[in-house]
Amino acid sequence: APVIVWFRADLRLRDNGALSAAAASGRPVIALFVLDETGASGRPPGGAQRWWLHHSLTALGSALGGIGLTLILRRGDPRAVLDDIINRTGAQSVVWNRRYGPEAIALDSEIKASLADRGLTVKSFAGALMHEPTKLKTGSGGYYKVYSPFWRAFIGEGEPRRPDPAPGTATAYDGTIESDDLADWDLLPTGPDWSGGIAATWTPGEKGAHERLKAFCADALADYGRKRDLPGVDGTSRLSPHLAFGEITPSDIWYAAAAAEGVAKKQLEKFHKELAWREFSYHLLVNFPDLRTANFNDTFDAFPWEGSEDALEAWHKGRTGYPIVDAGMRQLWQTGWMHNRVRMITASFLIKHLMIDWRRGEDWFWDTLVDGDPASNAASWQWVAGSGADAAPYFRIFNPILQGEKFDPDGAYVRRFVPELSDLPDKYIHKPWEAPRKVLEKAKVSLGSTYPEPMVEHKRARERALDAYNEMRGQA
Ligand code: FAD
Repeated sequence: APVIVWFRADLRLRDNGALSAAAASGRPVIALFVLDETGASGRPPGGAQRWWLHHSLTALGSALGGIGLTLILRRGDPRAVLDDIINRTGAQSVVWNRRYGPEAIALDSEIKASLADRGLTVKSFAGALMHEPTKLKTGSGGYYKVYSPFWRAFIGEGEPRRPDPAPGTATAYDGTIESDDLADWDLLPTGPDWSGGIAATWTPGEKGAHERLKAFCADALADYGRKRDLPGVDGTSRLSPHLAFGEITPSDIWYAAAAAEGVAKKQLEKFHKELAWREFSYHLLVNFPDLRTANFNDTFDAFPWEGSEDALEAWHKGRTGYPIVDAGMRQLWQTGWMHNRVRMITASFLIKHLMIDWRRGEDWFWDTLVDGDPASNAASWQWVAGSGADAAPYFRIFNPILQGEKFDPDGAYVRRFVPELSDLPDKYIHKPWEAPRKVLEKAKVSLGSTYPEPMVEHKRARERALDAYNEMRGQA
């Protein structure tokens, strides 16, 4: 009887425990992907991720073809799809790699129990994370809310799981199974096609992921600690969307980085620690499943949010009048990704300068990021808001001018994404409103016309945010 490999956020052949086990069983293999837009598996992918998914599934389909398998595509509730395929093919077992969103955990447990009741074998495998997120426990048996002790525990667990090679061949199921046409899923934008910049930036799929990893290890890892905070430089791996779709595993990245030549121990550790932030986010999510919807620190339930829809829209569009914020928001819209330093700056600006609820920002990121991740997005937004577990204190309010000057000193990043300011001298690139009229004229900048005036004044916004914070604390 055939075995079904149910692909989810693990669109790869290498280091894929479920696929390897199915291939090694010698039984006929049915490779299945189900597009679940019902919400049963968790929040459906945002717009940018739908684009990515289309291309990643295309890549997976052809890679599976290389080992003799056909990828079956179905849309709907996974419970109904699995039942249908099991009924038609007489499959006796289902294998998958574990996922960790709260809805997905609930759904997978339900499916596992119901299939087992019917006498099928179900087996799940690790892969999305280096260590199981529920395994790490504090001395008193609880979970970690602060990163540093989490990191010590993570290291204390010993070496991450070693990656498995891709199976060389598999036995294909020889009956016919109905499969959707990917084009009918409408994953690509229709109407205005906003995907040009995204397509020019990324190569979705497992092969693209490994090429990225190789290039990063050769070109940027040795300087990672120094350059990772500079958005104008390609100093980070940009592996996040590949990780979000499971085209590559963190174990694979961990060991490839460790094996890279000419990399000082400190730089390697810095990079490994960032990979462990992703694990920490999942550790928080599995232990606090409402991470996306509820303030981790419920004192924040009384926060007097007050931003307007117009303000939110100016932020979406990168028209706040603060160049580093606008560059970030436009990088996000154009490429589906934003540099980590600028994610912190733009998020802080939304929450503190505009006083808009962090969940509104989290939603926008989910819809526009190619790397939108149920754990890292929610955990990071709460971190910036100050409502999170190991959070930056609310009263530490980023100054968007100083942040720009410190991390984008020559304005390379701003010039790239806010081209209407590109002729301004470095001195004014992060505060055009301070430039003398002559300088603005020479750079062809007309504030309020070619580029907006700052929508809020930094000092006043800061005071307002601190007043709101104190009001909240007064109520607690
Ligand atoms: P690198 O610097 O090359 O790091 C390697 C990997 O480590 C990343 O791919 C990522 O998987 C992990 N990592 C690095 N930094 C973090 C971090 N702070 N938290 C968790 N994991 C980290 N990351 C996402 O993957 N998805 C999200 O939806 C997401 N939303 C975010 C929202 C906000 C407001 C902020 C401040 C951060 C968010 N991050 C998110 C974390 C981080 O910005 C990205 O992981 C990182 O920018 C990805 O770029 P990279 O692959 O080049 O990172």
